[in-house]
Amino acid sequence: MFVAALFTIVKLWKLPRCLTTGEWIKKMWYIYTVEFYSAIKKNEIMLFTETCLEAMADKPNPGTLSDSSEQLFSFGVIADIQYADLEDGYNFQGNRKRYYRHSLLHLQGAIEDWNKEGNTPCCVLQLGDIIDGYNAQYKASEKSLELVMNTFKMLKVPVHHTWGNHEFYNFSRDYLTNSKLNTKFLEDRIACHPETIPSENYYAYHFVPFPKFRFILLDAYDLSVLGVDQSSPKYQQSMKMLREHNPNMELNSPQGLSEPQFVQFNGGFSQEQLNWLNEILTFSDTNQEKVVIVSHLPIYPEASDSVCLAWNYTDALAVIWSHKCVVCFFAGHTHDGGYSEDPFGVHHVNIEGVIETAPDSQAFGTVHVYPDKMMLKGRGRIPDRIMNYKKEKAFHL
Ligand SMILES: [Zn+2]
Repeated sequence: MFVAALFTIVKLWKLPRCLTTGEWIKKMWYIYTVEFYSAIKKNEIMLFTETCLEAMADKPNPGTLSDSSEQLFSFGVIADIQYADLEDGYNFQGNRKRYYRHSLLHLQGAIEDWNKEGNTPCCVLQLGDIIDGYNAQYKASEKSLELVMNTFKMLKVPVHHTWGNHEFYNFSRDYLTNSKLNTKFLEDRIACHPETIPSENYYAYHFVPFPKFRFILLDAYDLSVLGVDQSSPKYQQSMKMLREHNPNMELNSPQGLSEPQFVQFNGGFSQEQLNWLNEILTFSDTNQEKVVIVSHLPIYPEASDSVCLAWNYTDALAVIWSHKCVVCFFAGHTHDGGYSEDPFGVHHVNIEGVIETAPDSQAFGTVHVYPDKMMLKGRGRIPDRIMNYKKEKAFHL
């Protein structure tokens, strides 16, 4: 019965590019039997299936903004600046040009636009890879970071910095923790709920830019072999996990992998961080908040290529899908961008990377938040998107 239900779901969902039906069912089986989160109990499977199908049939149309919609607040998004004082180059595959120097001018342009907006955004989300890994090779990491951070000083509003793989090519985790890229001081503390305070073992926090809207910044390199001491238990655990899924000599190569996201330039979420995320989402559900999650790595296959996902993206989805409060998940890393709304109504948005944006274009956006939707106003190669919130009734499992 359970497998039949999963088959129904799988057949109706558009299958992710990177998985066969069997693999996806295996993953879904795992997700729906994660008892710890106890969101979907065995005797609720058919109810869940019906609710899921109802939700899919009942999805609101992506309408247009009407004048009567009242904007509550807005925020900026930008990803993969990857600045370096280098001539233009190409990505690893040699099919995308990278504008290392011009990325700083793109950032300046974005900041000027955000500062000029009539309703100033409340903050900007920087989705990681702020400077390129090449800086380490030329011993220019600190100088380049300073240049980019000085540019960010022109911004009139706070910026929340996410950490990506290029942060760890340049700096150790300890260095980042003590650097200006650590914006945890902007976090919110929920009185009387110590379970919602993040541990120091990962770089994650939450904040409230507007009443009833909570933003959560996740550490997608919490499990990673980058930037951590090789003698540390976290490194050992991460390397074991990586090698179990990737037998290649070159651990950055996804060649022949059934789960191609298990490469060295990606990372994952520890159980400790996922437990914390679960606590925050539990609080947000109770408090009837809308939640936006931010991470360098995407977690939904339909919105990404199969290689660029977080190692254990299914674990993150399992937590998110067991709550009703999450409306949007923003990520970077893929450079080409991507978008998909999952069957639970969570909008997964991957922001196009600045580094691969030609000088005559742009790559940043402003997300305008309304009571019933968010609207991404993209600039340059970032498309506009209207993201309606899911209907509450459809998700009371
Ligand atoms: Zn990246």
